[in-house]
Amino acid sequence: MLQLGKSEKAFDEAKRYMPGGVNSPVRSYRSVGSNPPFISSASGSRIYDIDNNEYIDYVLSWGPMILGHANPEVVASLQEAIPRGTSYGAPTLLETELAKKIQAFMPSMEMVRLVNSGTEATMSALRVARGYTGRDRIVKFVGCYHGHSDSLLVKAGSGLATFGVPDSPGVPKGVAENTITLPYNDIDAVKQLFDEMGDTIACIIVEPVAGNMGCVPPVEGFLETLRDVTKAHGALLIFDEVMCGFRASSGGAQKLYNIKPDLTCLGKIVGGGMPLAVFGGSSKIMSEVAPSGPIYQAGTLSGNPVAVTAGLATLSMLQRDPTIFKQVEDSTKALCNGLEELAKKYNVPAVVQRVGSMFTLFFTDKPVHNFDDASACNADHFKTFFHHNLSHGIYYAPSPFESNFVSMCHKGAEIDKTLAVAEEAFKMISE
Ligand code: PLP
Repeated sequence: MLQLGKSEKAFDEAKRYMPGGVNSPVRSYRSVGSNPPFISSASGSRIYDIDNNEYIDYVLSWGPMILGHANPEVVASLQEAIPRGTSYGAPTLLETELAKKIQAFMPSMEMVRLVNSGTEATMSALRVARGYTGRDRIVKFVGCYHGHSDSLLVKAGSGLATFGVPDSPGVPKGVAENTITLPYNDIDAVKQLFDEMGDTIACIIVEPVAGNMGCVPPVEGFLETLRDVTKAHGALLIFDEVMCGFRASSGGAQKLYNIKPDLTCLGKIVGGGMPLAVFGGSSKIMSEVAPSGPIYQAGTLSGNPVAVTAGLATLSMLQRDPTIFKQVEDSTKALCNGLEELAKKYNVPAVVQRVGSMFTLFFTDKPVHNFDDASACNADHFKTFFHHNLSHGIYYAPSPFESNFVSMCHKGAEIDKTLAVAEEAFKMISE
């Protein structure tokens, strides 16, 4: 049985100094009703806690570590970079190099602005969309998470197309009212909304592969509809590829589904595990950003040389050896197929949804297309599955509404071990 004595003590102490003992809510393990392991180190596919437990990690820092933890090439580049100073607040060659690399992967990102988190990227992209169109209203989809800025921390009221209500105390009602929420994958709702008020809408922001209600791919025609209605009404289409960029495919969801958004947000992999994110798009739109244009955006640590170095090293490896994408996707496929077969074997209603190297095991008997479908999954089965896995060294995201990720270091042996533990968990659930 898993020994977590030191982690439990550490959590008690952390709770005295930080709300809920953590610096980001999902880390607290509330949704699975237990306490989190405190992590001491990570390497390759493995993560280790302060009680010396070892886990095969499918969280991967919530997505960034596609090369595995502490990739030697990334670490070496950081070791070289740090003695040169950790921040200058002045231009460097590295930033242009990273911008060029990003454009090579995602040609729609002709110009970019580097920022420090996905939240900052989406928040700034919204400002650009509003500034560029001169409109205030934005559209988002229920179950998509775009970080915690006011305009985006909004949930649906009742009804199909709703003016948002704040999802958290502290989000002003007036701000939330400018956020219109629609059900994900609902093509008719999108068309109807744009028929009614398309000319007042600044942008649609969407996770083109949703990852924050679990992994939910777009249905056929959904992204195409978003592209068509925004174009027809002079609104911008923002792809939030913070999670699915470099995961759905080498060029993100926009390459996989062949849709060109006006603006794209990236985070996670683009920073190689350091605090770095990006928003960007056509030169025409991005030229409106300060200082070349009037739309203000800035950051003391933006383009930080250490963070950019980690991002550059990661993207360089991926660019040099694009077979990494296929290898990681093949491992994810093998794992997902295995999970599906085991669920069938033990008669546990389950659907595994995967796009590229992100996946979610939903405890339900039908495909999950939106947040309502995700919410209808069996929460007890998830908890049983999660806890059995954690206590046997398999570290999945501690919530049924999350995606899991695979890295280059998850090979046959890791997948086999993961499936062996999964089999025990499915057996338990079936009994
Ligand atoms: N957008 C998406 C799709 C995300 O998954 C996340 C975080 O998980 C964010 C934005 C916010 O990024 P950050 O946590 O770096 O602020």
